[in-house]
Amino acid sequence: MAVTRLEIDLGALRHNYLYIRSKIADNVKVIAVVKAFAYGSDAAAISLELEKQGVDYFAVAYVPEGIALRDAGIRTPIMVLHPQPDYFEEMVDRCLEPNLYSKRILELFYAFAKAKNQKNYPVHLKFNTGLNRLGFSAKDCTWILGRLHKNTSLRVKSLFSHLVASEDPTAEEFSLNQILEFTQISKQMIEGLDNVPFLHMTNTSGIINYERAHFDYVRTGIGLYGYGNTPEESAHLMPVARLKSVISQLHTIQEGDNVGYNRVFTAPQEMIIATLPIGHADGISRAFGNGAGYVRIGGVKAPIVGNVCMDMIMVDVTNISCEEGDDVEIFGELTGAEELSSQMKSISYEVLTAISQRVKRVIVD
Ligand SMILES: *Cc1c(COP(=O)(O)O)cnc(C)c1O
Repeated sequence: MAVTRLEIDLGALRHNYLYIRSKIADNVKVIAVVKAFAYGSDAAAISLELEKQGVDYFAVAYVPEGIALRDAGIRTPIMVLHPQPDYFEEMVDRCLEPNLYSKRILELFYAFAKAKNQKNYPVHLKFNTGLNRLGFSAKDCTWILGRLHKNTSLRVKSLFSHLVASEDPTAEEFSLNQILEFTQISKQMIEGLDNVPFLHMTNTSGIINYERAHFDYVRTGIGLYGYGNTPEESAHLMPVARLKSVISQLHTIQEGDNVGYNRVFTAPQEMIIATLPIGHADGISRAFGNGAGYVRIGGVKAPIVGNVCMDMIMVDVTNISCEEGDDVEIFGELTGAEELSSQMKSISYEVLTAISQRVKRVIVD
């Protein structure tokens, strides 16, 4: 296919899923994190394949992401990490399970569930143990237990927390303290609840580095898509998404000629420049302009020349034998999203999730 496209390799996804499963005990279950279009890929295709592979749970950030999975036919339980009251109605209609992370959200959802005559509606409670993003604090346990005592509308299905720096060995003491605090919170909560919820704490790096924090379920996002947070983690995984494009036009330019908007690039000698149909509207950040980023043509690196445009980039192919219509890799097999992201001082997560909906998704199996 000779257009800009994101190939999504379901074989790589299965490999990564099995690799992650091999890192946890048989009785530990897996929550696949498929937020943000499954990290910029295709949430429906990824989730349907994982459901086929027997994944136990899905997690999304926001309610509309969960609705899209239900529309795609997903029947596995879905937790919503960051539910918002405006979406409660649709959330309940589609059997999406909220994370109640604060007194305000708990009160609002409890009142909503009661008004809708819900019985034992599954909810998840998140505890903040250091990230200071979302979550109850340890000292809220008594309030939560009092509030939920003898209630019939809600049932606490799980308790969870999130590690701050699971990939960072220098933060081990901090992580172990988080695990200890979550263990104490869980103990107090379980003593006060009528049912025993399941516990979960780790993301992908936490799965690899903190076996003691596996508890009942683990949450994995980036690992499923083929990246870890260190080269050692990534070495065992296969990139699921491959961003490819094509050469639209070649120009031979002379010394002193400029390339792109604002004449930022001036040719130091005769050069050949290739124009590609992918720009910042597709997710190629302007931070990749002016040589920071590169693509591969016939396996050889071709640096981006000048500023990234909305719909196009120009790359230097002076020393590459290529023709109009030839295939280009932006990331995937030869250049990992991780490697490319480091060129703009970012992380694989950002490069992957930036790929906009304009880019055609092609499922490869
Ligand atoms: C996004 C997210 C994850 C997934 O993290 P990865 O590092 O991609 O495995 C897990 N838990 C929570 C709460 C998240 O927000």
